[in-house]
Amino acid sequence: MGRALAASLLIVAGAVHGPLAQAQSALPMMGDGAEMTSSAERRLGDRIIRELYRDPDYIDDAPLQEYVQDLFQALVRAAQARGELAPELQERFAWQILLGRDRSVNAFALPGGYFGVHLGLIGVVSTRDELASVLAHELSHVTQRHIARLMAQQGRQTPLMLGALVLGALAAAKSPGAAQALMVGGQALAVQNQLNFSRDMEREADRVGFGLMQPAGYAPQGFVAMFDKLQQANRINDNGSWPYLRSHPLTTQRIADMHSRIPPDAAPPAPATLEHLMMGARARVLMRPGVDTWRQWVAEPQDAGFAARPQAQRVPAWYAATLSAVQLADFAAARKSLRALQADVRADPAAARQARLLGAELELAAGDAPAALGHLQDGNAADATRHRPELLLRTQALLRTGAGGEMTAPLQTWLAAHPGDALSWQLLAQAWQQQNQLLRAVRAEAEAQVARYDYAAAVDRFKAGQDLAQRGGAASDHIEASIIDTRLRAVELLLREQAAER
Ligand SMILES: [Zn+2]
Repeated sequence: MGRALAASLLIVAGAVHGPLAQAQSALPMMGDGAEMTSSAERRLGDRIIRELYRDPDYIDDAPLQEYVQDLFQALVRAAQARGELAPELQERFAWQILLGRDRSVNAFALPGGYFGVHLGLIGVVSTRDELASVLAHELSHVTQRHIARLMAQQGRQTPLMLGALVLGALAAAKSPGAAQALMVGGQALAVQNQLNFSRDMEREADRVGFGLMQPAGYAPQGFVAMFDKLQQANRINDNGSWPYLRSHPLTTQRIADMHSRIPPDAAPPAPATLEHLMMGARARVLMRPGVDTWRQWVAEPQDAGFAARPQAQRVPAWYAATLSAVQLADFAAARKSLRALQADVRADPAAARQARLLGAELELAAGDAPAALGHLQDGNAADATRHRPELLLRTQALLRTGAGGEMTAPLQTWLAAHPGDALSWQLLAQAWQQQNQLLRAVRAEAEAQVARYDYAAAVDRFKAGQDLAQRGGAASDHIEASIIDTRLRAVELLLREQAAER
């Protein structure tokens, strides 16, 4: 994703105030037909994220994914409760966060209820309230149908062209040469100037987003704190590492609007949770700052006076030291930092859980699966099947010990509720393989492709399953074979629809 995602913010969620943006300063009335239907918008979003899933910078990191997605879901529920989110839209859209490994500070809305968040943003926000304020703003661009209106303004552009428009712009940010190749009739750059939110849309996203904060359980001051942070970055930084600023120019009016919405007697916001500080540290380590930086972070707790620092500084430093040492494959150093981290967060259940997950990750990387399971067993046993990070880590550890088959039932339970979880389907395929249930393994591989909207690859795998069933003859699993037949027909239909929609 990376640079590509940065570009799509500029394009899809952009607010560069060119002449076209000025001209649409009055919002079109709702119901004047000037918006894309929700089902067309969802299909366009699916088309775009199918490409993003293939981008090497796309990252499915279970702890960060869970942390950001949970923050976000609270905002979605608040939008629904406040009547900002039509039931039809809630039902139809994905409401899904995609993480990008990029170091730049950015977040953006895509068509169909998909949202991109760069690790760079998670790495700079001081509190979950600040992160929530950005998500609330982007969410509101979608619930207020701003994206649907921008898409409709493209007139006769087909879904294929709209998708290519976004994807062409993604490539443009990577290298100018690649952009030329992807450009649609040379018009892409001309058209993308029209895909900018107007100032009024930005103000509306601020207003509606702000209204979601308190009902969702966040301090509304997070909005103001985030604006202050953006303003500071604006003053000292023009090197492109804050693309969010390019697409969301801070006007004095935006800032004044937000300040005026905070009641003068509002309670001061709570300090950052330890869990938030740990997730920020995780994002900073995973955005690949380079070997030298990882080494600095491993060494930081040895600094004179480190022990005297406040807990809110020690905990993220211990976390970064541990995970950096894992990246450097220095497992002795990682274990030492982890023990210090565990001692420091013992009294905080959410933080202690993150330390356990980190311990399991460390031991998996070190090749000690039983030790990884040991870390997971320290937690609540039910977590192993209810929470995705525990589920995935436990499965990976048991696959190493040859007991992956134990996880087929918990994974199936999870997938019944989360059929779009490609990584879980992949692990289920490996678990079935370890059980020597090859037909089931092939079907799980096919479902992993469906989850990534790659229907052609899924059809391939389903057909491989049919071949396998035929070769197995009477000995094969007939129920599984008939499920494969049914799923193949359904996915072939989806593939034809995808191909027909130009
Ligand atoms: Zn915006």
